[in-house]
Amino acid sequence: MRDGQNSDVVVVGGGLVGALVTCVLAKKGHHVRLYEYRSDMRVEVSRGVSIDLALSARGREALRQIDLEDAVVNHHGIAMKGRLLHSKDKGLKEILYDSVHKNCIYSVNRSHLNRLLLDAAEKYPNVNLFFNHKLMDIDLEEGHLQFVDVKSGETINTNAEFIIGADGAYSYIRRTMAKRPRFNCNQTYIDHGYVEVSFPVGPDNSFIMSKDHLHIWPRGEFMMIALPNEDGTFTGNVFAPFATFEALDTPEKLISFYKDQFPDALDLIGEKKLVSEFFQTSPKTLISIKCNPYNVGSRTLIIGDAAHAMVPFYAQGMNAGFEDVLVLSELLDFHNNSLSKAILNFTKVRCDDAHAICDLAMYNYLEMRDLVTKKSFLIRKHLDTI
Ligand code: FAD
Repeated sequence: MRDGQNSDVVVVGGGLVGALVTCVLAKKGHHVRLYEYRSDMRVEVSRGVSIDLALSARGREALRQIDLEDAVVNHHGIAMKGRLLHSKDKGLKEILYDSVHKNCIYSVNRSHLNRLLLDAAEKYPNVNLFFNHKLMDIDLEEGHLQFVDVKSGETINTNAEFIIGADGAYSYIRRTMAKRPRFNCNQTYIDHGYVEVSFPVGPDNSFIMSKDHLHIWPRGEFMMIALPNEDGTFTGNVFAPFATFEALDTPEKLISFYKDQFPDALDLIGEKKLVSEFFQTSPKTLISIKCNPYNVGSRTLIIGDAAHAMVPFYAQGMNAGFEDVLVLSELLDFHNNSLSKAILNFTKVRCDDAHAICDLAMYNYLEMRDLVTKKSFLIRKHLDTI
């Protein structure tokens, strides 16, 4: 086994975290083969989860490692300096994220970011990308992997010195790890789901709301949020208990609900567009996963959502996944580029922080949909009861 340099690594999953870790490992001289279930999104466009994401300091630092921060933040990111709260009477209230240092978070397009990362990965001569390859079987200790080419049906058997599982919240690798003794895993589906509804571009391609804010319509049991997109539209997401969605089963009920709860948004979206988009798909589920350990010996490691999927209310899922890559990179620097030592030590240095971010994300749902509208003494009182 070559450990220290030129190691042979298989990354499973070519989403945001898998593409980033491929770049970072390749930059350090390792040979990386990335296997992704879906087709190449740079060739075939498909609609995935949430169009845009909030990128924060954690994620930016990781992108800096492969010189992509500037391209993402300054060329394609939209700075959001704070929250803009929309009340039922159409009133607005601004809450800045950082009134002292003026730090912002950035709205970035998910597929654009993923495409940038795949382009960056492909530029390394020591990287090979395989799309339409679904992991079907894995021997975590011996490093055997079996994929199926979902287009041709062909079975591909291969081996790797090291395996990085970045195969997302429903990770096959994590599920395989769960069959092993002393692997702890806590999986929670929350009672709330989400539906995406977009806001159109304004006259002369203008933004119809402030593009400098993350918009929130906090309503206690449920909420809507919207982030700006580069093309002048906004992507909105309604988060609500599944029972609330089930009750909104006709266009009339939906419009009446919006008139009551989000009247300014209804004016901007329009009844026809709202009805058509809202009923296009069923509400999606939200899952939180905390597990331990993230490694199997010194050969296999899971990172990103595969290791710690979280509810999206702290806007840190991708950012935390990117930070995993940063932590792995620092461990490699510390251990003379030895992947076996980095993998062996990763859980110890990362797990507590990742679990804390999962908990904060869960807490922030309450904050965003409810506490954000309350004075601090009421928040304290509320917190005493949960
Ligand atoms: P994924 O993006 O899920 O990628 C996993 C990849 O693995 C996929 O491409 C998949 O096709 C592939 N794969 C799966 N199984 C296999 C297999 N068997 N074989 C081969 N390949 C496989 N995070 C933020 O930081 N900021 C936000 O604002 C934010 N907003 C969000 C809003 C919503 C509504 C949701 C649901 C999430 C949000 N997140 C946000 C979280 C963020 O989307 C995830 O944390 C991030 O996508 C995780 O990246 P990943 O690469 O680990 O997993």
